[in-house]
Amino acid sequence: MSMADALKEARRCLNCAKPGCRTGCPIENNIPQFIRALRDGNLGTAYEIISERSNLPAICGRVCPHEKQCESHCVLARNKNGIKVGSLERFIADFAHINGLKPIPPTTGERGSVAVIGSGPAGLTVAGDLAKMNFGVTVFEGMPEPGGVLMFGIPEFRLSKVVVRREIDQLRHIGVVFKTGVLVGPDITVDDMFAQGFDAIFMGTGTALPKTLDLPGKELAGIITATYYLQMVVLVENGKLDARETLLHDSDRILVIGAGNVAMDAARTAIRRGAKSVTVVYHKTDKQVSAFPNEFTAAQKEGVQFEFLQSPTAYTAAADGSVGGLDVEEMVQTPEGKFKPTGKHKVIPCDRIILAIGQKPAARIVSTTTGIRVDERGFVITRERPYGMTTRAGVFSSGDVVHGPATVVLAMRESKKVAAGIAQYVDAKHLLAECEE
Ligand SMILES: Cc1cc2nc3c(=O)[nH]c(=O)nc-3n(C[C@H](O)[C@H](O)[C@H](O)COP(=O)(O)OP(=O)(O)OC[C@H]3O[C@@H](n4cnc5c(N)ncnc54)[C@H](O)[C@@H]3O)c2cc1C
Repeated sequence: MSMADALKEARRCLNCAKPGCRTGCPIENNIPQFIRALRDGNLGTAYEIISERSNLPAICGRVCPHEKQCESHCVLARNKNGIKVGSLERFIADFAHINGLKPIPPTTGERGSVAVIGSGPAGLTVAGDLAKMNFGVTVFEGMPEPGGVLMFGIPEFRLSKVVVRREIDQLRHIGVVFKTGVLVGPDITVDDMFAQGFDAIFMGTGTALPKTLDLPGKELAGIITATYYLQMVVLVENGKLDARETLLHDSDRILVIGAGNVAMDAARTAIRRGAKSVTVVYHKTDKQVSAFPNEFTAAQKEGVQFEFLQSPTAYTAAADGSVGGLDVEEMVQTPEGKFKPTGKHKVIPCDRIILAIGQKPAARIVSTTTGIRVDERGFVITRERPYGMTTRAGVFSSGDVVHGPATVVLAMRESKKVAAGIAQYVDAKHLLAECEE
């Protein structure tokens, strides 16, 4: 949006007494107020208002499903003319970054010290909120750069890494310390962290383990996971890895198994990197595709092909011993909506298969310390009081590692509540220690 377009859009806002847009925003951004400040030309104030609730507005402005959240709750949306809240949020945040606006003062660190493990939306939200509440915060991140899926998952063409780095720099400015390349579990344990004097520890470690398909031929070379593929692309595009050291092979015929957002990102990335052909294989119909509708439509427009109602049954080998095809069985949808195999098979030829069928949490932390319980699928169990504490006192958690793969803003919503829970816990701990003295 240009400045003129942003002002024009802001002037259309009716400033409702009961703003539906705010209710529709999972983190309850004060949308009418920041739009009013923008309309009055006070961009600094507009950014200050956004920064009260969000640590990642330039990112949310780009990747949040606004059409399902704030924008769908706008009264003007009833006439299909709702305010473009996402674009306004993005405009204000970009303006603030480009002009070096830094409305939040650095933390004094006087209220206590907290270790945050993982620097995706969950970790960054907890870190930012606690720093704003005057806690000292150190983030431990296993990857060479902070950002989690924002940096190493969502592709550049949807979310520029420059934007991610700018948001993280805002957190550095308010005093958050980042330690990258440190994998908690193998490199340092939760017990070591408590021994170093942290009052509380937060785990926002996401779902690091991609699911795989246990099919005949699974050992063939050329079958990779979407998370590996997207990570390698970022590392190669940032000059951190030579493409020849990876399994990217850009000119291949690629099959992507799965039809969620991760599958669309992998497929659209492969198209951009020059694949001969990219085909998404999905065992249900186009009506059940779980990717955001705009992602699905974009993939179709960009030339990604789709094989619906095809369930993978085996990987087949090429002459050189690597994967050369995918054996699939046709499915049929029953009148009750269930999917049943028909017994009809075919082989879809390919040079590479990318699996995008979901992720689950890794056990690096829970297996190297005691007391943190997980459910039968490996997701961390947390409690209501203090909000987000695990079964181990002082260790908190939120984001995908707790509720399963979801969205950036849902990880942020939960993490805001957990940051408040951590503050409550650390304050209570200090108070108790004072009483005992
Ligand atoms: C390809 C892809 C595209 C997506 N697109 C969108 C989108 O457009 N819009 C949207 O709203 N959502 C999208 N999502 C979902 C969204 O990104 C996630 O829900 C969100 O990132 C979850 O945040 P998180 O902080 O819980 O986990 P993550 O973002 O996964 O961050 C976890 C971090 O913890 C680190 N870590 C893990 N274990 C350790 C350890 N032991 N020690 C140190 N560090 C560790 C990881 O390296 C990582 O940096 C997408 C997800 C993917 C995979």
